[in-house]
Amino acid sequence: KNSIKVALIGNPNVGKTSVFNQLTGLNQQVGNYPGITVDKKMGVTKLNETVKAHIIDLPGTYSLNASSIDENVVIELLLNKNDVDFPNVAIVVTEVENLKRNLLLFTQIKDLEIPTLLVINMIDRMKLKGIELDIPKLERELKTKIALVSSRKNIGIDYLKELILNYKNLSTEPCLHASSIDPDYFNKLRKAFPNQLLYKLWLVITQDVNFLNLERNAIQSSFTKTHAELKKLQQKETIKRYQFINDTLKIGQRIDKTKATDIQNKLDRVLTHKFFGYVIFLGILLLIFQS
Ligand code: GDP
Ligand code: MG
Repeated sequence: KNSIKVALIGNPNVGKTSVFNQLTGLNQQVGNYPGITVDKKMGVTKLNETVKAHIIDLPGTYSLNASSIDENVVIELLLNKNDVDFPNVAIVVTEVENLKRNLLLFTQIKDLEIPTLLVINMIDRMKLKGIELDIPKLERELKTKIALVSSRKNIGIDYLKELILNYKNLSTEPCLHASSIDPDYFNKLRKAFPNQLLYKLWLVITQDVNFLNLERNAIQSSFTKTHAELKKLQQKETIKRYQFINDTLKIGQRIDKTKATDIQNKLDRVLTHKFFGYVIFLGILLLIFQS
């Protein structure tokens, strides 16, 4: 078929809507208004003479551990292969200054074994912040392709389109094997549902989402754990993901701390000057009133 379905996913404020607008030439309102962005926004972009991409801009979400309506929208779409909007490729948008936090969601999406691309947005701020990235190394560690983008300056959008066009070359290998969270438990789960993705089952067990209800009841009743036990396993999952992300960034990211702090220092100096200014000013006032 000559149309590729693309889902744009990412934490709030990483520039998803800006990337969406650059791709589609639309002018959706930029900004994050919690509760209002629940609707999926759609747009079309031409990848070449014959192939188009249908792009969905999904509401901002921090993780797949749903706690809000916004997050449920994302999970329900990604768990339902039968959904008409189920994407051929998921694009996780991150921003260069908050990679560590943003990559948590990336590792979760990747574990759903959907072809996944990584956009690192706001690269116009890299120099200022002293951030250097080794893209080949990051691509290898994260088992993906990366587009460095500045949606503000319209950089990297053509390369991103090229990557979407070639989404079939993307690896669908997960970042974290779910079974490592609790091997015994997950092995039992795997035996009981051999045809299902382990991480997907895990999401169905832990999330309150409307996904194939019957199946969900069967999964949940035979794999019940107490709320406390589930929470503990979820925490373990998060810790494992951050360990993976830390290791990956140690290999592929360098931050020149002096650059970042130079600016901070200047700011601090200005603020302290002002502060002392106020103290002296108040002191003089006090003297005047006392005399
Ligand atoms: P969303 O919440 O992920 O949809 O993010 P938005 O597209 O609403 O953007 C959030 C903020 O980041 C806005 O103030 C944008 O102007 C800004 N922004 C988006 N892309 C870029 C970029 O490439 N560079 C810079 N410096 N800022 C950007
Ligand atoms: Mg948005």
